[in-house]
Amino acid sequence: MSFVPILAVVIPCLNEEECLNSTTTAIFTVINNLAEENLISDKSFIFYVDDGSTDNTWSIIETQNKENQRVKGIKFSRNYGNQKAILAGLTESVKYNADCVITIDADLQQDENKIKDFIIKYLNGAQIVLGIRNNRKTDGFFKKLSALAFYKFMNILGVNIKVNHSDYRLVSREVINVLNTFKETNLFLRGMFNELGFKKDYVYFDVKPRKCGKSKYTPFALYSLAMSGITSFSLIPLRIVTFVGFIMSFVSFLIGLSAIIDKFTNNNPVPGWTTIVVSIGFISGIQILCLGIIAEYLGQLFQEVKARPRYIIESEVI
Ligand code: UDP
Ligand code: MG
Repeated sequence: MSFVPILAVVIPCLNEEECLNSTTTAIFTVINNLAEENLISDKSFIFYVDDGSTDNTWSIIETQNKENQRVKGIKFSRNYGNQKAILAGLTESVKYNADCVITIDADLQQDENKIKDFIIKYLNGAQIVLGIRNNRKTDGFFKKLSALAFYKFMNILGVNIKVNHSDYRLVSREVINVLNTFKETNLFLRGMFNELGFKKDYVYFDVKPRKCGKSKYTPFALYSLAMSGITSFSLIPLRIVTFVGFIMSFVSFLIGLSAIIDKFTNNNPVPGWTTIVVSIGFISGIQILCLGIIAEYLGQLFQEVKARPRYIIESEVI
């Protein structure tokens, strides 16, 4: 008999009470169809990660679990952010014998009907299947622009993240076991899956508008995500800082030298108040920026050195 994998669908959620019932129904429709086609096992399940919701999200998950044991879930002790919720979902769901795990958002903005494509690519041997957005129609101008800038910047820094790759992805149990040997607290998943190697494949999907509730991603959360992505994967910004410092010292040395020569040969004191004030302002700006970059890395180091647990699970229903 051919291999019929158990699939876990991991869904991170923060205050998604309005979405959960319709999401569970939609995912079960997909799972049940796939099980009928014998592509996945009928033991496949949904695994919710409640990322410290303050509404009824957790009690809805508990109720769903009482009705159907194929809805499982864990609840964080507080809000840890969507990346940690996804990571916890991967780590915890394989404990219940999942062979492969797909992560998808609770608002089902990612097309759940593509789950079949992920499974087919997995059955054909891919260990990691990445979901790539066809477009960003549903995103505002700011989000589109910042996402583009981020991916381009990461590519320049030598981190080859696939552009418009999302957190809609399938990962095999083998890959999750390897991922769990990485000890850092701040895991930037999109970079990590790139770093790991393994056979990869891609599924392209359209992003739908949010069908219920509100977006939980603030511009600040996106900024922190981008920063931790950069500082956990690239040392190039630090090298740029050193390089800029070196160039600036060299240029200042030349300017100083020419001023001294000017004074002695032409007896000409350095003219120009404006030049001095402008260059002081400019150079201070660069210095503060450089300190900021170094501080980002120091902050990253600070958190890693403390080696606190990645997340704390308060309750679970299995
Ligand atoms: N989410 C989470 N923790 C957070 C923020 C978001 O678990 O701190 C979940 C959220 O419930 C959703 C997914 O992450 O399932 C994506 O969030 P959202 O749809 O708000 O982001 P957007 O699609 O607007 O980028
Ligand atoms: Mg969304």
